[in-house]
Amino acid sequence: MAQQIGLFLNPVGQRRVDFQGMYADMFARLFIADGSEQATDLMGQERVDLLIIDLERFDRSFDLEALGELIGRRAGAPVLVLCPFSSAGWLPALMKFGPIGYAITPLDEGDLRAAITTQLEATEPAVTHPDDLRALLALRTRLQQALVDVDDLTTVAEQICVALCDAAGAVHASLFRMDVPGDLQLEAQYSPTGLNLTRVLHRSDRLLQSPLRHAFPGLVAACSNEMALLDAPAKAGEPELALSLVDKGVEMVVGLPLGSAPGSALAGSLCLMFGRARQFSLDELDSFVALAQLAGFGLRMAAVARENEALLGRVTHLATVDALTGVSNRRHGEHLLELEIKRARRYKVPAALIGFDIDRFKAINDQFGYPVGDAALRTVAGVVQATLRTSDALIRSGGEEFLIIVPHTSAIDALKIAEKIRVAVAQTDIAGCDRLTISLGVAQLADQESADALMLRVDAALSRAKRAGRNCVELAMS
Ligand code: GH3
Ligand code: MG
Ligand code: MG
Repeated sequence: MAQQIGLFLNPVGQRRVDFQGMYADMFARLFIADGSEQATDLMGQERVDLLIIDLERFDRSFDLEALGELIGRRAGAPVLVLCPFSSAGWLPALMKFGPIGYAITPLDEGDLRAAITTQLEATEPAVTHPDDLRALLALRTRLQQALVDVDDLTTVAEQICVALCDAAGAVHASLFRMDVPGDLQLEAQYSPTGLNLTRVLHRSDRLLQSPLRHAFPGLVAACSNEMALLDAPAKAGEPELALSLVDKGVEMVVGLPLGSAPGSALAGSLCLMFGRARQFSLDELDSFVALAQLAGFGLRMAAVARENEALLGRVTHLATVDALTGVSNRRHGEHLLELEIKRARRYKVPAALIGFDIDRFKAINDQFGYPVGDAALRTVAGVVQATLRTSDALIRSGGEEFLIIVPHTSAIDALKIAEKIRVAVAQTDIAGCDRLTISLGVAQLADQESADALMLRVDAALSRAKRAGRNCVELAMS
């Protein structure tokens, strides 16, 4: 005959009635309460051997503190928390107030009876075994090491998964991330047993739209920003998923949000799968949360590294590119010319420099306005760029003056290129104004010649082209 006194706590009347109907026989007396206040009053008046808190329908943002105080009031006397698998984040939070046993719901009658019996017979609260603590520390260190050489995001995500599979009994680790808002993706996975999660979930992207988003702990955690703990695949209520997991040797799945602050944009989740189900202590659950935060931090570091690279690229672009035309600016052009001269000398190949200047450009500005002049400059730069090889470099050396470095090219060939450019510009319609012409000077790099000397010769040739009536090409004197 049952001797002990129980107290069942849940805000929903039907659940209290159901529990009483099914399990009252396990107790000499079973009290029921609809909230922490009523439970506190009852516990003040009666001896209660087992407090059962059924978390179904409690609201974490209102009830956590009150339930915590109730647990604290038990001062170590048995408490059994019935926790929905998708609300496992309650567990470490409640464990901070005092020792509790927990069972993940939904539970069938036999399992709930077994959980109640275990708690009624428990003499001492469970503590973490030193070996488990050592294993946890090793796992945290392993993950920390994996994050030291943070470089590319995908590699970091893969390293995190590999490190997490060091956890005792782990058969699979995965990382879900939302890079593009609204598109949760399987970023990385690792399994010592060869398990492929894409087959279980039937896809690896747009996972917020997956029918399994309320069932698979990795997805639940990413969607709710709350830990999800499934200690029997069938409890998720998706028979096909349960079959698939059991078939692959998975008995327990833990989903952990990637440590973003509550209420912030969803960042993603970590998901660990184990071959055996077991109960976790506060230390273990806390460590899981810390691991996910560490992983989230590692991913953010990798993202920052990626942003830095992009920023550096933009800074370099700004420093080397002419803002109006998008071609190289003068300073960068001088650098490129020095490099080309060195290369031509080293490999004993010819190199040429072409300079050009738009004819009577002042008149264009005067007649059509500066903005039209600007647009004309962009058009001319575009037309010239289109006639060049990728190895050639177009540089805006001043207002409406340009240079072209033509590697691996003799004077004769450079003259042909210059003529082609002259014709291309002369034949181009310019928006908002008349057609334009350019005058060009061409020089081949001489032995021992400096960049300055070469540019002076090109300038002189260009001046001769202007004097010769414009819209023509002149070869520099050697
Ligand atoms: P020439 O045939 O002798 O080269 O005659 P030009 O009028 O082109 O020569 P000049 O050097 O006297 O004038 C160049 C003009 O180019 C002066 C300036 O108004 C114009 N210019 C220089 N930079 C820019 C710019 O960034 N935008 C615009 N719209 N015009 C510019
Ligand atoms: Mg000009
Ligand atoms: Mg000029």
